[in-house]
Amino acid sequence: TASATTSVTVESAAVESADPCCAAPLPVLGRDVSVPLVTGGEVTYAALDYAASAPALQRVWDDVAAYAPYYGSVHRGAGYLSQLSTDLFESSRVTVAEFLDCRADDQVVFTRSTTDSLNLLAKALPADCQVFVFETEHHASLLPWQDARVTYLNAPRTPRQAVETLERALADRDPYGPALVCVTGASNVTGELWPVGELAAAAHAHGARIVLDAAQLAPHHPVSVRELDVDWIAFSGHKLYAPFGSGVLAGRADWLQEAEPYLAGGGASKKVARRSDGGVDVEWHTTAARHEAGSPNVIGVYSIASACKALTEAGFDALVSRERHLIAKVREGLAAVPEVRVLSLFGDDAPRVGVISFVVDGWNSSHFAAALSAEYGIGVRDGLFCAHPLVRTLLGSDPQDPGECGAPEAEPGERSLNAIRVSFGAGT
Ligand code: PLP
Repeated sequence: TASATTSVTVESAAVESADPCCAAPLPVLGRDVSVPLVTGGEVTYAALDYAASAPALQRVWDDVAAYAPYYGSVHRGAGYLSQLSTDLFESSRVTVAEFLDCRADDQVVFTRSTTDSLNLLAKALPADCQVFVFETEHHASLLPWQDARVTYLNAPRTPRQAVETLERALADRDPYGPALVCVTGASNVTGELWPVGELAAAAHAHGARIVLDAAQLAPHHPVSVRELDVDWIAFSGHKLYAPFGSGVLAGRADWLQEAEPYLAGGGASKKVARRSDGGVDVEWHTTAARHEAGSPNVIGVYSIASACKALTEAGFDALVSRERHLIAKVREGLAAVPEVRVLSLFGDDAPRVGVISFVVDGWNSSHFAAALSAEYGIGVRDGLFCAHPLVRTLLGSDPQDPGECGAPEAEPGERSLNAIRVSFGAGT
């Protein structure tokens, strides 16, 4: 498919199944899908792009199929199906709050995605809020804060350095105004875990709040809002083995209640009346509904709750140990290929989830990824993974150089300016 100065042999078209000692993978849709190869014939697709979107769990699909004939509008109708849907919608909030181990007075707001959740929070910041964010973040957590006073922190090379960098920045801040730190739990590029508990402690010690981007953490690890002591958490359904279109922002109610509704419309408004001067008076809800105007994505929300239950029932201990085993196998395989360089911010020993990015000497990453798909039926991602500054830092190029997301930037034989990412999880 692609010409290259080096030829690299791909030994196996799929990650081998885990040791018999480990738990079995959770059943997911699409496990048996066959895809055509350029060399002729077909092969069972190896989905190794979970970090972009994970396949939906069979259990989620079954739950949705069982509910589908009964679905109706929520919070609106007196009919039986409306009531049923409202019950499912509201009980999904409770399931998600339990899954995240939220505090009793936290709010769970249903959104479209992590991007949507963080943009919602950005719109709810108090006046004059200062925001602190590492340049290593995914664009969803790097970019929503443009209307606030943002400080972008340089990439740390150890978890300790991350905490020290944050502490220094917070020590220099205006101590009286509100402040927010935004940090990812697990990198969508390196899979490395960030020291969220320590960063939260540092934020709080300086009177700041913290939001955790758990898009890549929640599908792989148990998350406790209470224990990590984060003020908010955001994640997406489609990375947590549910279908597309739903997400969560959970956490402290105060800033959310005081902010203007994210969207103006029905559902967010409690009372609306014409004024004598011709205008309209609105009383907005102070519950999560304040930021959920419009008819909500009931199926999406129910899917998230179903996925949360499935992961909890499978048990994170078993899922984590299985994933560690897969990570070790993939890293071992990659280490055996001299042309491969695995990208890492915190070093080889850092704890991580099943997200591994690498470059192959002498190969354009886009061509390499295309060849994996066309010749072996392996689906991976190539590019800069919507984390341009981080990938550029890891590749040793200029983090300030603008570039397009996913653009093939190197010719065969040149040093790659983008990378290849394999990612997997509970269904692998
Ligand atoms: N944060 C991280 C760490 C991610 O990996 C992603 C998606 O890749 C996002 C946020 C954005 O998620 P979504 O596209 O579902 O909004």
